[in-house]
Amino acid sequence: MEIVVLRLGHRPERDQRVTTHVGLTARALGADGMYLAGTDKGVVESIRDVTERFGGNFFAADGVNWRQCVVEWKSRGGKVVHLTMYGLPVQEHEAEIRGHGKILVVVGAEKVPGEMYGLADYNIAVTGQPHSEIASLAVFLDRIFQGHELIRNFPGGSIRVIPSPAGKRAEEW
Ligand code: SAM
Repeated sequence: MEIVVLRLGHRPERDQRVTTHVGLTARALGADGMYLAGTDKGVVESIRDVTERFGGNFFAADGVNWRQCVVEWKSRGGKVVHLTMYGLPVQEHEAEIRGHGKILVVVGAEKVPGEMYGLADYNIAVTGQPHSEIASLAVFLDRIFQGHELIRNFPGGSIRVIPSPAGKRAEEW
């Protein structure tokens, strides 16, 4: 399955940390990459730096035109899932969504353009309560991958964390 995240509405002056965490969460929980609508080399570099050190093939690209990204994704046979508290319950639609091999997951910042709701194949809610793009993405990915993302390998890189009951253990090579 191919899953890529599209981050909308990034404001470099206030969203750097959250957008970086959207990318890191996407990477850690099994997505293949993140498109950033907007320009922020700092965010892209932070995510690439983590990928270089901790492995895997996650990509991060900024300067993306969100409308073109969505339209092209659909024209290549992919489905578009927009995460929004106004959407349909994730638990009622996850099985159908899982059946698609190629998914673009769209998350917003403060305000998502109304047009997005019409362009999406699915508007999906992780509860009908307002919360966070990081949290909704994490729950969505875990639902789609059914927990298998937790035991995924990240080939390459130079650091591997060794799980331990206390303290911090990691090996470098
Ligand atoms: N009020 C904004 C709007 O209506 O566009 C949402 C702002 S929220 C801080 C930022 C993003 O978090 C949203 O664009 C959405 O992707 C995600 N989000 C927040 N709550 C959600 C929920 N209950 N279910 C799914 N996604 C959610």
